Amino acid sequence: MRVKLTTGKEIPLEMYKVRIVQKTSLPPSEARLRAIEEAGYNTFLLRSRDVFLDMLTDSGTNAMSDQQLASMMVSDDAYAGGESFYRLSDAVRDVLGFTYTVPAHQGRAAEHLLAKILVKKGDVVPMNYHFTTTKAHYELAGGTVLELYGPDALETDSRNPFKGNMDIGRLQAAIDKYGAERISFVRMEATTNLIGGQPFSMANLKEVRALTSKHGIAVVLDGSLISENAHFISKREVGYERVSVANIVKEMMAQADILYLSGRKSTCVRGGLIATNERKYYDLLKAWLPVYEGFLTYGGMSSKEIEAMAVGLREMVDPDVASSSADLIQYFVESMVARGIPAVTPPGGLAGHVDAKRFLPHVPQLQYPAGALAAAIYLVSGARPMERGTVSMDRDANGNDVPSDLELARLAVPRRVYSMAHMDYVVDRLAWLLEHRELVRGLRFIEEPPVLRFFTGRMVALEGWGSALAKAFQADFGMEC
Ligand SMILES: *Cc1c(COP(=O)(O)O)cnc(C)c1O
Repeated sequence: MRVKLTTGKEIPLEMYKVRIVQKTSLPPSEARLRAIEEAGYNTFLLRSRDVFLDMLTDSGTNAMSDQQLASMMVSDDAYAGGESFYRLSDAVRDVLGFTYTVPAHQGRAAEHLLAKILVKKGDVVPMNYHFTTTKAHYELAGGTVLELYGPDALETDSRNPFKGNMDIGRLQAAIDKYGAERISFVRMEATTNLIGGQPFSMANLKEVRALTSKHGIAVVLDGSLISENAHFISKREVGYERVSVANIVKEMMAQADILYLSGRKSTCVRGGLIATNERKYYDLLKAWLPVYEGFLTYGGMSSKEIEAMAVGLREMVDPDVASSSADLIQYFVESMVARGIPAVTPPGGLAGHVDAKRFLPHVPQLQYPAGALAAAIYLVSGARPMERGTVSMDRDANGNDVPSDLELARLAVPRRVYSMAHMDYVVDRLAWLLEHRELVRGLRFIEEPPVLRFFTGRMVALEGWGSALAKAFQADFGMEC
């Protein structure tokens, strides 16, 4: 919840109390330099012990509630027909309005199953924006992703409240060009992860629904961050000021033929699911679930996580829960902007994003500015960001780099984990880095896997800029921090 103080300042007020804590520590800059060099300038390859604030991702790193933890103690480990599954299925029906629930071990497993049953070789899959694992699975199935975002979706400095909207004109053009037969389905991602956690509006989703219905094309909703998208609709869309997050979620679901999600985000667990009201999709999924994931009532998840997901689904539509990270992110982004840091605006769900093209204009895109910025942020703060730029794009069939639309260093804000003081600290170190940005240069791959290279690829700092940056930092802050 956001509250206004008597000074006029607005702060994100935590609507929970913390009763279990985990110790963290801030290794000095010299140790951070060693760690990032050993990690090949890839923040994925850092060890937790070398990280102060883990802002790599909001995936599976959120704080669970007392009710979720309690539910895990009463889970039913039956291989088949476990009661935990039926409690999940009840929550899916009550919160999302779907009859059939297909559990999967995480979001990408759901994408794999959907690709298996719906994406044929030569198909196209229109979407408001892709996600890394989504694109990988649909392309492995022989499909091509069509990114049908609106004209200003990729502008990082913007006031458009719904940069996650699909461009309806471009969707119509894609239907005219390919015909409904070659379109596997239209995918809408609730808060587009890769362009800064930006939501779509209900009006836009309804337009997508209306157009696809006319052509008999299915709508698939990626609801990994569904509660945040619903929160933004309640705060930003005219006509939804008084509609509850729970009812907004239901209204969104009513536009979709299939919902899938990674439970690691909004529901604060580790798992995933697919849900639908259509028997034909359920039957297709049912055939493959035991092959790839597990029996119908656990789908690769532990019964404890299934149980906690049922609770997490019900809790995520509580407005205090739905807004918990969005409010802190708003504070974080506004603080960055106030210090002149080129953050992605408006604030979105999941993270504060820094535009590396604007932060490091002297680093050419094929020297991976977002990767360099992510490593530099770690070096000066101990906070671990994730690269979301060209490193996150795999090479094309000819072995050439594919320049990403955006070059972002993403600082994820896991739900209910970090505080305002943590945000103030990170913003301060980012401001110092901005003043010393000339020291940061590009990166070059020395080890590069062919698919999803961002996870495990290793790089080196061109001209050894890591040491130069550490030295400048130590001159200002000393050797202790
Ligand atoms: C995280 C995520 C996925 C993939 O889910 P995993 O649980 O990490 O496999 C898919 N789509 C979106 C929008 C996500 O944020």
